[in-house]
Amino acid sequence: MNFCNECGGPILFGPVDGDHAPRHVCTRCGYIHYLNPKIVCGCLAIWHDQVLLCRRAIEPRAGFWTLPAGFMENGETTLEGAVRETREEARADIEVEGLYCLFNIPHINQVYMMFKGTLIAGRHAAGDETLETGLYREDQIPWHDLAFPVVRKTLKHYFEDRITGSFPFRMIDLRHPIP
Ligand SMILES: [Zn+2]
Repeated sequence: MNFCNECGGPILFGPVDGDHAPRHVCTRCGYIHYLNPKIVCGCLAIWHDQVLLCRRAIEPRAGFWTLPAGFMENGETTLEGAVRETREEARADIEVEGLYCLFNIPHINQVYMMFKGTLIAGRHAAGDETLETGLYREDQIPWHDLAFPVVRKTLKHYFEDRITGSFPFRMIDLRHPIP
């Protein structure tokens, strides 16, 4: 950040009286620009013994498989965001059962909120940001071509939980990139 959103003045990154962290401060009007984590919300959509995956058409990780998810918009709830992203990326509707996995990812300043639910009527198709969509059983998942660690972790938890039939909410901290 180089220029102030309020007045266009130059910004300096430095200490602020009474604050624990350095901030981006406008040298002209004094406005303090706080930068905070972004929330990504998405869905693990289940159809019988299969899960819905999307192959990404856009960077980052174009060509790799993901769960439908994206940045939350202003004015919506996390659940609304997850349902919207699933419609946009996978042309799919989901009957959501609840929040399943929350990932804190401090090194990239993101929080992922993944909801779990049932794909309605088994219908899905590629949206604008997706090359193709597909329903996969556990032994068909392209484990080596998944886009992000959160996708791998969410799928691992789901297939482990399915053995017991109990799907408790989990909060997971991803401190560093996982191979
Ligand atoms: Zn300013």
